[in-house]
Formats: sequence, C-alpha cells, structure tokens
Amino acid sequence: MFSLAGQRVVIIGMARSGIGAAKLAKRLGGHVLVSDEKPKEDLMDAVSVLDTHRIATETGNHKRAMNEDWDLAVVSPGIPSNHALLHDFAQRAIPVWSELELATRALGCPWVGVTGSNGKTTTTLMTAAIFRESGRQTEVAGNIGIALSELAVDLPVQAIVVVEVSSFQLEFSATVKPAAAAFLNLSPDHLDRHGDLNTYMNVKARLFANQTVDDVFVANFDDPYVRDIAQHGRAQIVPFGFNLERGVTLRDSCIVYQNGTEWQNVLPAADLPLPGRHNLANAMAAVGLCCSLGVKPDIAGRALRKFTPVEHRLEFVRELRQVKYYNDSKATNVDATITALQSFQNPILLIAGGRGKGGDFHALMPYLRHGVKGLLAIGETAVQLERELGDIVKTLQVESLQRAIEMACTLAQPGDIVLLSPACASFDQFRNYEERGRVFKTFVNELT
Ligand code: ADP
Repeated sequence: MFSLAGQRVVIIGMARSGIGAAKLAKRLGGHVLVSDEKPKEDLMDAVSVLDTHRIATETGNHKRAMNEDWDLAVVSPGIPSNHALLHDFAQRAIPVWSELELATRALGCPWVGVTGSNGKTTTTLMTAAIFRESGRQTEVAGNIGIALSELAVDLPVQAIVVVEVSSFQLEFSATVKPAAAAFLNLSPDHLDRHGDLNTYMNVKARLFANQTVDDVFVANFDDPYVRDIAQHGRAQIVPFGFNLERGVTLRDSCIVYQNGTEWQNVLPAADLPLPGRHNLANAMAAVGLCCSLGVKPDIAGRALRKFTPVEHRLEFVRELRQVKYYNDSKATNVDATITALQSFQNPILLIAGGRGKGGDFHALMPYLRHGVKGLLAIGETAVQLERELGDIVKTLQVESLQRAIEMACTLAQPGDIVLLSPACASFDQFRNYEERGRVFKTFVNELT
C-alpha cells in the first residue's frame, strides 16, 4: 500500500480539499502541517477539525511552509500557479502534488474522471447513477461530493469512484490514471488562469496522459478540440456525438451504444428527464463511461430514465395552469443562458439579470428573437438588459425576483415556459446562485 511513513508533508490551503488531504497524509504516516494565509478568525471551523485529528496548522502566513524542510507539498486548487510558495518549492526541489494526485495514489479501487468546460456535474451524477443501478458500490468525489482524499483508503477494490475533475486540480497531477475518463467539451474559458487555449488543453489532457490500452477515453467527437486531443492518447477511444458511426450516438431518436459489432439501445432520447440537446450529450458521455466498463446498456437506460435533474440546472419546478416553471440559476453567464434557451420548443418568459460580469448581452439576441416572448429583467443589470435587448424582445425591469415571478405568472399562457436563467452572477441580491435558485422555487411553489 502507498505510504508516507516518516515523511514531512505540508498542505497549502485549509479548504475542503486541504482538510481531506491532511487527514489522508496523516493516515498514511506523514508528519503534516496545514498552512493557510487567511487569518485564524476566518478558518475556525477548519482549524478545529484539524485539531481534532491532531494535525498541526499555521494561519495568517506561510512562514513554516517557507522555512522548514518538506518531503512533499500538496497544494489546493485555489493557489494561483504564480504564487511565491510554488516558486519557493520549485527552487528547493520539493515535489508538489494536487489533492487528486495524493488521493488517487492511495485509492484502493478504480476511478472514473469527468472533465470539460460545461456539463461536468451533470455527467458525473449521471455516471454515478448508472453504476449504482448496476449494483456496484459507487462514490462521487471531487468538485462535488466530498474530497477524494476523504474516502481514498476505505473503499473495497470492487467499488468505483466517479470524480468531477476541474483543470485546476490537474495542474499538479503528474501520474493520475483513471480507468475511464470523459472529456465533454472545451470552450475557451478559464483562460485568465491558464494563459492560452493550448496551455489549457494541455492541462486538461493530463487526465488522459497516463492512460494505457487497458483504459478508456470517452471523447466528444462533435467538439473539434476534444476530437483532436483524442488522437494523442493511448487509451481505447469511445467517441460520443450526435451522428457517429461508432461509440455512443443517436439513431432513430434513441441513444445507442456500440458493443463490438452490435448496436444496443440505451433509451429513447425523449425519455431522458432533462431538457436540452446538451443533456443528451452528457447522457451519452455517461453511457460511454459505464458501458465501456461493463455495465449493460439497458441498465444504463433504466438509470437515466429515472435520473433526478440536478438542482439549479434547468431544474423543473412545477406546472401550474399548463405553464411549466424551470430553475436554471446556475446559468451565471450568457453562454449558459443560450444553452437553456436552445433547450425548449415552447414560448418562454425569461427572467434574467443580476450582477454582470462585464460582458454584453448582444449574443443572446438570435435566441431571444426565436422563442422568447418576454424578458423580465432583475438586479443590477436590469437597465443594461432593457437597453441592449429591449428592441428585440418586450423587456420589463422588475425590482425583485419575487415580483418577476408574479408578473411572469400573470403574462404566461397555457403551453408557455417560465425560465429563470439569469446570464449573471447572483451576488447583488443573493448569497450565491444556490440561494437564488431556492428562493425562485419557494416563490414558484407558493403561486396559486
Ligand atoms: P459544470 O459542472 O461543468 O459547471 P453543470 O453540469 O453544472 O456543468 O452544468 C452547468 C451549466 O452548463 C448548465 O446549466 C448548462 O447551461 C450548461 N451545460 C451543461 N452541460 C452542457 C454541455 N454538454 N454543453 C454545453 N453546455 C452545457
């Protein structure tokens, strides 16, 4: 078994993954210090958890991290790659790992990784639902669920872990090797951190770099970047996309999986309980991951048919007088709102606005023209929304989310959809997008 016996390990960052890494490093025999530059007052909960586990902490600065000798440093994904500490570790030739690197070294069962710019959480949860339906002990870790380090040493070899992997976690993950990995899509986001698209692609490609012919790489062949990366790996490629000759695709409006020379039905597209073409793509990726690791396609279909939509992502809330209400509070940028608008055929009353991210809203225009009959603009960007989009779609500035819901309810006719998909952050009126989504659901459920 992997061991850190007698090694001096410094963990940088006292958030969820840092705490998980510290507990794991201690269990593996390491002498551990967790260091965070935030003041102790902001870290009381973390410090108390670490105290309980008798793990040393340093807050307010990184003095010990900088000045003592370490055999290994584990850095949280929040540490920017130009941080002075990373420079210092490099100069002192101290190996630097991510929490993912540490956890996967200690993990006693296979794992599956899901990465990409959009759809990671949904695909991760679909994949886990399918493995569970097949009767296999399944855990979800990474960006959602708990830190992988928290469960690494306790799982039996027959279990499987589905890990949502962000590019930040891959920066210091030199040896990670998932049994199957899915690359969903690549849009040029996060470039502020990774510099340019090539660097970003290379970081993402680390998830596949160590795979061998025994492993599986599930790749979106409708995405030119992903298709290109797929050519460079050694793993078996299972492509997915809407019109393919192999892998997972759509035939006669049914998701199908190619098993050897035979095509097997997974489920009719119309039976997936999530709206939108993007969710069909996510489902195909999940099918690719699970079926290539031995799950029968009909079991995958059964799991997807009863999949519960993920909260705040085009989540169906209720139907009232033949009007359907959807909560897409997670759509905090224009692209996500475009995805939402493309997911429905019926006329939409759109509730959007909040804290802007500096961009403009013109990209929404073609999607508003077809299908959106009214825009209820809320939050700090309400004025901007009306100014930029008012000529395209009837736009009303409304003072609160509650008022927007009431107005939408009044304006809606049978067959319409009321959609909260803000294209903006929530921080002007809410703590986070989760709170905004929950407030939306509460008010919608109170409508009579
Ligand atoms: P992530 O975990 O990568 O942020 P989520 O599953 O939480 O992704 O979905 C977030 C939003 O991204 C969704 O509300 C939807 O607007 C958009 N989205 C989801 N899947 C896809 C996809 N396959 N392609 C494009 N956009 C997507």
